[in-house]
Amino acid sequence: MPLPPLTGHVEARRRLAKAVCGGTLPQVLLLTGPTGIGKQRLALWLAQLIFCERGGEEPCGSCRACHLVDGLSHADLHWFVPIPRPKAGDPDKQVDETAEALAGVMEERRKQPLYAPADGMASHSIATVRLLQRRASLTSVEGGARVFIIGEADRLVPQESSPEAANATLKLLEEPPQGALFVLTTLDPRRVLPTIRSRAAPIRLNRLADDEVRGFLRQHTEWSPEKIEERVALAAGSIGQALSQGDEGGKAYRSAEQLLAAVVEGRGPALERALSQVAYSARGEFAAMLDALAETLGEAARGTMGHPVRRAVPQPLLRHRSPAPLLQALERVAEAREAASGNVNPQILLAVLGEELAEVL
Ligand SMILES: [Zn+2]
Repeated sequence: MPLPPLTGHVEARRRLAKAVCGGTLPQVLLLTGPTGIGKQRLALWLAQLIFCERGGEEPCGSCRACHLVDGLSHADLHWFVPIPRPKAGDPDKQVDETAEALAGVMEERRKQPLYAPADGMASHSIATVRLLQRRASLTSVEGGARVFIIGEADRLVPQESSPEAANATLKLLEEPPQGALFVLTTLDPRRVLPTIRSRAAPIRLNRLADDEVRGFLRQHTEWSPEKIEERVALAAGSIGQALSQGDEGGKAYRSAEQLLAAVVEGRGPALERALSQVAYSARGEFAAMLDALAETLGEAARGTMGHPVRRAVPQPLLRHRSPAPLLQALERVAEAREAASGNVNPQILLAVLGEELAEVL
């Protein structure tokens, strides 16, 4: 199955195409923006544009190179995605295992190009970095440019344990081999290793317009118009979100848990990060998170009274001697829940709530 067409990001495409035509494209790019808006898809589009034999402002989509990229089988396109840590003990075997795992993921994506977000434990391990170096040191198969895409670059593991690998990666990004382009993507540039971030030209991508998400869903799903509207309303301009909302409840609980864990740590960088990380432009999603927050606090209150706890609760919450602070927190959440049904900005509401919770918990 070919890749689904790139949706939106018209301005970024125009800028990138101009840079490619003028030969001014930086060799290391960092694409940032919300999850599920097509950052890696844009990176693939850029690869296609660079490889395309017709050389226009958009990939022609019909030449041999375009077909190869569409089928994820262009020999000079290297797409690295987070994968489970290799199990082998020997470093060389780890690299082989990583290459096999990546090939497996690519095989799946050829069959099903609309993929779910990577598993929380998946990463770019040191073996991945070694594989990247190994591939970068080879020459072009087709005799032209080479493109390396590193999806979710914030999952590059810090490499204290292997300074040579880290230094070699930095050197690779500092002095990329001629004709090699590195495109890194991330949700939040602050989460990318600063040494890597400082070497990349940032390109900020925004959420898609609701109409763009709607158009995509109409074309690529067989959903009813009602279901499409429902998903568009919750998607906050993210095709990925629109497609993966079956997991909505689980997501709300995970966000609530993360927020509580940060609150317990007290005012500081962790809390600030938790409060800024999730952009709630969809009201339904925000309300679901508040409900999950209330449920988790209620559960913790029961736990402090010696009742069994039925769902994951951040451990420090259970250290309270009495349920009183938890019930106070619950009250604050209830107030926020009420305010959320009015015309209040969820982000501001969440910032205030975070402060209040940090006070009582
Ligand atoms: Zn083409």
